[in-house]
Amino acid sequence: MNIQTIVIIGAGQAGASAILELRNNKYDGKIILIGDESHLPYERPPLSKDMILRPEQTKIEILSQQKLKDLGVEAIQGNAVVRIEPEQYQVILKNGESIHYDKLLLATGGAPRRLPILDAVGKHVYTLRNLEDSQALVPVFQAGKRILLVGGGVIGLELASSARFKDCQVTLIEQSPMIMGRSPAIISQFLLDEHRNRGVDIHLNVQIANVTLRGEEIVVILESGEELIADAVVYGIGIVPNAQLAIDAGLDVDFAIKVNENCQTSHPDIYAAGDVATQLRADGNYARIETWENANNQAGTFARHVMGLAQPKANPSWFWTDQYDINFQFVGDMSAKEWHIRGNMNPQEDKNVGFTLFGLDQGIVVAGIAVNQARDVRHLKKLVSSSSAFDKEKLLDVSIELRKLI
Ligand code: ADP
Repeated sequence: MNIQTIVIIGAGQAGASAILELRNNKYDGKIILIGDESHLPYERPPLSKDMILRPEQTKIEILSQQKLKDLGVEAIQGNAVVRIEPEQYQVILKNGESIHYDKLLLATGGAPRRLPILDAVGKHVYTLRNLEDSQALVPVFQAGKRILLVGGGVIGLELASSARFKDCQVTLIEQSPMIMGRSPAIISQFLLDEHRNRGVDIHLNVQIANVTLRGEEIVVILESGEELIADAVVYGIGIVPNAQLAIDAGLDVDFAIKVNENCQTSHPDIYAAGDVATQLRADGNYARIETWENANNQAGTFARHVMGLAQPKANPSWFWTDQYDINFQFVGDMSAKEWHIRGNMNPQEDKNVGFTLFGLDQGIVVAGIAVNQARDVRHLKKLVSSSSAFDKEKLLDVSIELRKLI
């Protein structure tokens, strides 16, 4: 099939990355990028951190107008696709225009999962997903303000760190027994201690029973009866994939858009990538991976498949978070049962905290978490990819450089 036009819906990480991958893989046909945001593609990870702390100095643009022009991309901004017509190979825009495609990529991302009890308050309640959301928090995070964060995932914890940097009074509530619930208990506990040491009042295992506005204050009553008072509430309780277009088009959707190993949906000429997609894994299960790296990887998979190129072996999954002055990088399978520490994990004893955790499964390194050890991440990825057993004594001996073990 001669592919003349590729349409990408969604100008986020996966959409932008798909453009670069297509051109790197020598696709020379037309690319049309359609995004409903008024901005060109930008990086989301800084939105909870640098964009709040130092917005003037923070650059988040992924593809400038000039770069898009150089890449020969027609970018349609601030205009949503309202319908996909798979039989006709066309998409319909909000303004009524129809655009033909030969291959279509859905990179529509997700939207914050809503908590109606908080939305009903009507003011001083925020979520964080896009640039405007981040900009709205800048005037809110003022010294002395009482900020209540709901949800102890990456968003809640990164915002706790930013709010403490701004000298806010920070309370965080989490419904489960641990923060960063998808990471191992050892790192969850470490984070809990760090946040509490830095003044965040964290409540675990709690549920909101009632929320009211009293003047300009928000009063949150927990099921225990405890009352929390805040000037603003920000909640981060996960996202809902923006899959409505796919549902309406009759594609196979199970919360997220189901795609195969090549990122094809149930229609072979329509693909999906990033937060909106759930992908078939080698074990026969589907998984949706909400990371920056996964968006890039799936964009690459899409581009190579369209171009008829072979797919490389998948790397172990990788994501990071920055909280206070600590950088955490997670590589591989976080459900590993056994975790071992290389370095000193106790921040009281060692101000410059820095250590690596290894996740082992029957002697094989299946995961690693590098904490303020960014230089080790490259080696960690190799250790995990090799699926080999390593001498544990040596792995945990800080006097031996990791790279010498591979
Ligand atoms: P995000 O990317 O928004 O941080 P995660 O799924 O990583 O999303 O984390 C969301 C966290 O919010 C989880 O730890 C989850 O247990 C917690 N959570 C979900 N709903 C509530 C709620 N109603 N109250 C408090 N915490 C919640």
